[in-house]
Amino acid sequence: MLTPLKDKTVVVTGASKGIGKGIARTFAAKGAKVAVVARSLTKAEETATEIRENGGVAHAFEGNVADLESMKSVASETASTFGGIDVLCANAGIFPNATIEEMTGEHWDQVMNTNARGTLFSLQACLPFLKKAEYGRIIVTSSITGPATGNVGWSHYGASKAAQLGFMRSAALELARYNITINAVMPGNIMTEGLEGLGDHYLNTMTASVPLKRLGSVEDIAYAALFLASREAGYITGQTIIVDGGQLLPESLEAMGQN
Ligand code: NAP
Repeated sequence: MLTPLKDKTVVVTGASKGIGKGIARTFAAKGAKVAVVARSLTKAEETATEIRENGGVAHAFEGNVADLESMKSVASETASTFGGIDVLCANAGIFPNATIEEMTGEHWDQVMNTNARGTLFSLQACLPFLKKAEYGRIIVTSSITGPATGNVGWSHYGASKAAQLGFMRSAALELARYNITINAVMPGNIMTEGLEGLGDHYLNTMTASVPLKRLGSVEDIAYAALFLASREAGYITGQTIIVDGGQLLPESLEAMGQN
């Protein structure tokens, strides 16, 4: 049984939908005060309202992780609204498709600026408050794509997700002196609005390649993040948890078996 997150404030980037929304809902259900961050304030408000209607504490903030000043405003407004910041879930990310032959510098920069630089800026903005918290926890949403697997059209995305892990390991060493831990969740294929946009063929192919025979739910990722944010996970830092229904395991298609 994990200690409830009552009185802890959690900033969740990319929380208006998908995995981030699942994290925001799950943390709120465990008693945390949640800052719901997305570029669309209207969509962030919808998530925050839903959480409040279910008895949780949440506030929506407009923020762009690729813009340090924007994230500094989010962090200071969160701290004045809720009295501090204890946990950052650096989750916002994009996964547009472009083959290497068609990829432009703009494609590359857009993905790296959101996914990799956005992780840095989110952390930099929240760090002064996490240092004061004497509890700090940072959970990064990476991916299996990049650190462990590849997919056609996602070389820039895979690079950005692997970059997050390289960043995390050095950050763990820099932040240890403040008693702040940083870890990453590596989701497989999780049913979100973003994933749905990739179309039926993608969804069916991926479901078939998962030994547990289903795509992940946003709660599957949220519970891993919740553990890493818990008091009980305080001695874990610089580590990763793969949450993919076993998708990385089979050595061959035959190894998937018939069941
Ligand atoms: P999603 O459904 O498309 O949701 C993305 C969220 O991020 C939205 O709330 C979006 O809101 C926000 N966002 C995008 N760019 C942003 C920016 N620059 N600043 C602030 N917020 C921003 O995506 P998802 O599937 O939940 O993915 C979330 C994370 O999980 C990503 O980091 C992704 O790489 C990772 N992941 C997902 C899967 C999967 O199967 N779904 C697998 C592995 C890893 P706005 O557009 O309003 O900003």
